[in-house]
Amino acid sequence: MAFSNEPSTRHLSSLSDVWEAPYWMDDADEPQEDASRVIGDVTADLLIIGGGFTGLWAAIEGRTLNPNLDVVLVEATAIAQGASGRNGGFVAASLTHGFSNGVERWPGEMQTLVKMGHQNLDEIEQFVREHNIDCDWQRVGEIDVATEEYQVEGLKQFVHDAAEYGEELQWLDQDTVRGRLNSPTYVGGLFDPDSVAICDPARLAWGLRDVAIAMGVRVYEHSKIEWIDERGTTVTAKTQFGSVTSPKVLLATNAFPPLLKRLKYMIVPVYDSVLVTRPLTEEQRLSIGWAGSEGVSDSGNQFHYYRPTVDGRILWGGYDATYHFRSGFGPQHEHSAKSWPKLADHFFTTFPQLEGLKFEYAWSGAIDTCTRFCAFWGTALHGKAVYVAGYTGLGVGASRFGARVAIDMLLDRDTDRRQLEMVRTMPIPFPPEPFRSAGINFTRWSLDRADHNQGQRNLWLRTLDRLGMGFDS
Ligand SMILES: Cc1cc2nc3c(=O)[nH]c(=O)nc-3n(C[C@H](O)[C@H](O)[C@H](O)COP(=O)(O)OP(=O)(O)OC[C@H]3O[C@@H](n4cnc5c(N)ncnc54)[C@H](O)[C@@H]3O)c2cc1C
Repeated sequence: MAFSNEPSTRHLSSLSDVWEAPYWMDDADEPQEDASRVIGDVTADLLIIGGGFTGLWAAIEGRTLNPNLDVVLVEATAIAQGASGRNGGFVAASLTHGFSNGVERWPGEMQTLVKMGHQNLDEIEQFVREHNIDCDWQRVGEIDVATEEYQVEGLKQFVHDAAEYGEELQWLDQDTVRGRLNSPTYVGGLFDPDSVAICDPARLAWGLRDVAIAMGVRVYEHSKIEWIDERGTTVTAKTQFGSVTSPKVLLATNAFPPLLKRLKYMIVPVYDSVLVTRPLTEEQRLSIGWAGSEGVSDSGNQFHYYRPTVDGRILWGGYDATYHFRSGFGPQHEHSAKSWPKLADHFFTTFPQLEGLKFEYAWSGAIDTCTRFCAFWGTALHGKAVYVAGYTGLGVGASRFGARVAIDMLLDRDTDRRQLEMVRTMPIPFPPEPFRSAGINFTRWSLDRADHNQGQRNLWLRTLDRLGMGFDS
């Protein structure tokens, strides 16, 4: 069955008690004391703007490569307040927003990208262990479930296609997949046992922050950079009460309004929503199974992703990917009266046996969507500034790779990563408004039609496919 894209009030009562904030932030272990603000004029060898995964990994990488490098990280609010603390906590090996996207764009280097992606995930896991980061890390894999017959052949074919590139996937027939997680909507599933871990992303970010500080990185919070300006051999970044001057700058600001004008055409903020249930009773848990705690996503163009939490809840997100006119961004978009009821409705369609369960948390957050759905890198201010952005909803793991490439560029290191075509090329820009919103909304409409028409892509989607463009979350 295809999920209905119509507004729904059928399960509104399940949202009656939600707290409108990310579940991950309701944590007694959240750092109690934020770092201080930038006051006066600060200097550094490397300035990192943005305290999400990209900025944190970059700071750690910079100090690891050169322990004498004076690294300053400046965050507008507090660490993990951006996408890094409000995502689903799926840590994927994929650097390309999934295998299909990668193989369509870079068939010649996909083998290398798959290898580097797995190495990246293994190294994150190793880092978490070595530094005792308490982030509920579980390497449980992911099941991509088919909820319609037409999806089955494509997923089965995937097992063979991906094997050529070193991915080991397993096809699960209807009984087997329902034996793992019991939903009457499933007709089969593709299990990837090794390429995905789940974690508590906010705790991961706080852990990285602690490691970075222990390594000597100077972290400043509540210090929004208002503008950056080139001054001779350095760049000055202005905050409300001071400035940071450095010869090298990394812009790691993800979907936030960019400091460089050119990025306004390369990424758009797209809002994705998440619900988290109350802890399930033993009976509810038994009614769905899920002994393996795998991450799950379904296979439509508009897809849900879901996973259990360590305290026995279900995190359920995705489907709607909402773009607001003129790249609208801000807290006013973090509460979605449209998406949350729809998500609740889809949840009970998937798990009717959980009827009566309530959601306790609901939030929305911005994804930095680009037209190729995965990270891109570039330089500005005569090479003094480097940016990385565009993870499009799959950046928890990929941001470490993104950060390392950015540091390679800033420290002028000649690495295999930098030779990749993926790293050397840029996505096609989005057009200005009003064409931007018209194009995105027409693409979303077309994707919805495809989801309700056996996956058949209309002329518009086929044209975008040929141009190497698209819209995803
Ligand atoms: C709802 C949702 C669900 C998601 N689920 C998943 C998932 O399950 N798996 C996955 O892989 N990915 C997921 N993602 C994407 C993933 O969270 C991001 O790709 C990743 O966190 C990006 O990290 P980042 O450091 O680049 O960005 P962010 O975490 O957004 O960090 C950017 C930081 O820059 C700061 N900043 C911005 N402008 C300035 C400025 N001018 N001065 C100073 N600081 C500034 C911001 O305050 C922010 O803290 C999801 C995203 C969302 C929104």
